[in-house]
Amino acid sequence: MKVSFYGVRGSCPCPCPANQRYGGNTASIALAVEGEDPILLDLGTGLRLLADDCPTDGTFRGTALVTHIHWDHVQGLPFFPPVHVPGAVLDIYGPEQAEGPLEDVFNGFMRPPYFPVQFSQLQGDIRFIGVKNEIFSIGHAKVIVRPVPHVGATVGYRIEWDGRTVAYISDHQAPLDLETVAPEVLELCEDADLVIHDAQYTRAEFAQKSDWGHCTTDYAVRVAAMARARHLVLFHHDPAHDDDQLDGILAETRCLAQAVGVPKVTAAYEGLRIEL
Ligand SMILES: [Zn+2]
Ligand SMILES: [Zn+2]
Repeated sequence: MKVSFYGVRGSCPCPCPANQRYGGNTASIALAVEGEDPILLDLGTGLRLLADDCPTDGTFRGTALVTHIHWDHVQGLPFFPPVHVPGAVLDIYGPEQAEGPLEDVFNGFMRPPYFPVQFSQLQGDIRFIGVKNEIFSIGHAKVIVRPVPHVGATVGYRIEWDGRTVAYISDHQAPLDLETVAPEVLELCEDADLVIHDAQYTRAEFAQKSDWGHCTTDYAVRVAAMARARHLVLFHHDPAHDDDQLDGILAETRCLAQAVGVPKVTAAYEGLRIEL
């Protein structure tokens, strides 16, 4: 399985010279296995870059697993030409919303006056599937969905495909003590080859923003260690962390990970490709 990162930021896009190496686009990842349709993880602004690697002649077929509907996870969808042509198909899985069916919620943000084009005007076939706590298949991939603590309805995904396992926990509200981990999150990450996890804050930042829906880099290590994951990818970087700060955060996190038995830590950047 090939895992490609197109957007690695949380909260809002933040391209600028100081963020050039890690990148400024929001959550967008693609999973690929030879001979099968791709599985996209979230639809943040990195999706625009992913479009360059997809056909735009109406042959695109794919699935998107969306963790929640915050802007940083869906804002790229209107800028994804592969699904704007007849014949293209995109199935979008996302958490069921108290506000109504998933399709209505998406239609709520992609319509005038917020955006000139509505979903119903797109030429491709976009289908919405609400999920919460379930297991299903996409082609030969097995997908497990579990609720994840954040702000509003949010899920995480575990994808078992081609003999490898990826867990995706993009936004994760840690408890105040930064110690306990929800059993659903541990289930998703258990023995995973790759855990892609929220790493928005340092301890000092978390002390100021402890109820903003996120966690610290050391909490991400704790999750990976408790789940015996083989490789932790720090993801959903805070827009305020520039390249040099992220280098420092990664170095500190690697020391910590080594001490608690997490074999490998990478800080996600735009253009990162991991072959599992
Ligand atoms: Zn987010
Ligand atoms: Zn969020």
